[in-house]
Amino acid sequence: MRTSFTPEQLADPETAASQTAIRKCVHCGFCTATCPTYVLLGDERDSPRGRIELIREMLERGGAPSPSTVTHVDRCLSCLACTTTCPSGVDYAQLIDHARAHIEEHHVRPWHERQIRRLIPAILTRPRRLALALAAGRLARPLEPTLRRLNLAPLAALLRLVPPRQPKPSPARFFAAAGKKRGRVILLQGCVEPAMAPQIRAAAIRLITRAGYEVMLTDGEGCCGALSQHLGRADEARAMARTNAAAWAAAGKVDAIVTTAAGCGTMLKSYGRLIGKEGAPAARRTPVMKAHPISVAYHAACSLQHGQQIKTAPLALLAEAGFDVRLVPEGHLCCGSAGVYNILQPELATQLRDRKAANIAGTGAAVVAAGNVGCMAQLTPALDAPVVHPVELLDWATGGPKPAALMAPEAVIKPRAARVE
Ligand code: SF4
Ligand code: SF4
Repeated sequence: MRTSFTPEQLADPETAASQTAIRKCVHCGFCTATCPTYVLLGDERDSPRGRIELIREMLERGGAPSPSTVTHVDRCLSCLACTTTCPSGVDYAQLIDHARAHIEEHHVRPWHERQIRRLIPAILTRPRRLALALAAGRLARPLEPTLRRLNLAPLAALLRLVPPRQPKPSPARFFAAAGKKRGRVILLQGCVEPAMAPQIRAAAIRLITRAGYEVMLTDGEGCCGALSQHLGRADEARAMARTNAAAWAAAGKVDAIVTTAAGCGTMLKSYGRLIGKEGAPAARRTPVMKAHPISVAYHAACSLQHGQQIKTAPLALLAEAGFDVRLVPEGHLCCGSAGVYNILQPELATQLRDRKAANIAGTGAAVVAAGNVGCMAQLTPALDAPVVHPVELLDWATGGPKPAALMAPEAVIKPRAARVE
C-alpha cells in the first residue's frame, strides 16, 4: 500500500514503524476470510485490509479522526488473526495499537463512553478495587436487564462476567521446589485472574514446583499493561511495563517469567517493542502421574495462537497428559472476549461467543480448556459444561487435585439456550 507521510511525520518512530507496516500490505485480501468482524459484518471497513486503509488515511491527515474511522477501529478485536494469515508479514499489532493511541489523543468520545473507559483500567488493574467491584456486581446482578433497557450495554455486559464468590488466593510469596531444585521462576500475579479464578494460580504453583522450580511472586509488580494498551492508553501501558521490569530486575536472577494468562503473555512479549526490555515466559515438563482420559475441547486464546503464535504446545501437553483433546472448528475465530471488547462492544462479542459455544458443543467433548481467564469468563455463561484452565488439567494429571469445576466430567457440552442480549 502506498503512503505519503511527510518527513516531519516520519521523524516520529511510531509513524515510521506504521509506514513500514502499511507499505507491506499488497491488498491481496487473504486476511478478510479469517477476520471475525468481517466474517460477521461483511463490511470491507471491518476487515484488516479496510482498517489498514482507514488507519493510513487517519495518520497521514493527522488530527481528529472521522467518526466512521473511530467506529471501525473500535470494532477491531485486536485478535491478530489477520497477522497469522497475512502472507506479506504486515505488523497489524503496530498499526492497531498506534491507531488506538491516536484516537485516544485526538478524539473526544461521548461522556458515558469516557467514564467507562476511565473506569475499566481504574478497577480491573487494581485487585482490591476489583474484588470490591465483583462483590458489588454480585449484588447488582438482578439489575442487568434494566441496564440493557437503559442503553447501558457495557455495564450490563460487565455484570454478566461476574463469577460466583471465589476463595482468596494464598498470601504466600515464595513456594519451594518439590524435590531436587532445577531453577527459579517468577509467576506473574496478574490483576483480573486472581479475583476471577484464583484456582488457576494455585494449580500453576503446584505444577511448577512439582517440576522442580521455586516460584516467586514479586513485590512492586502490577498489571502487565494489556488493558491500557487495548484502550489506546499507550503511555500508561509503557509506565506499567517499566514498573514490572524494575520489580523483576530487583528480584534477582530467574530462569523465566511465567504467566497463566495468554493475554498477559502476549503483552510481556511486546515489552521489547514497548520499552526495550524482554519478557521470556517458559516452563519445563513434569511426569504424568495419573491419566484422566476425559475429552477436552481446547479453545485457543487469540493472544496465544495469533499474538504469540503458540498453537500446538498446549494441545501436545494435554494429549501427553492423557486427555482426549478435540479441536474446535473455526478455532482461529475469537470468542469475543478480547481484553475488554466484551464490555465495549457487547453485541458483536455476544455473537462471537455464541458462535464459539456452538462450535465447542459440536466437538462433543466433556470439558473445555482455555488458557486465558478472559476467554473462560466469556464462554462460561454460554456453556452448560465446565470451562477450566489447561494448567488445572495438567496439575490434576501430575498429582494435583481434581479441578473444582470438573465435578461432572462425563456431561456432554451443550450451548445454553440462545438468550436475548
Ligand atoms: S493479507 Fe496482508 S497483504 Fe493481504 S490485504 Fe491483508 S494485510 Fe494486506
Ligand atoms: S485484529 Fe482481528 S478483528 Fe482486528 S482486523 Fe485483525 S483479524 Fe480483524
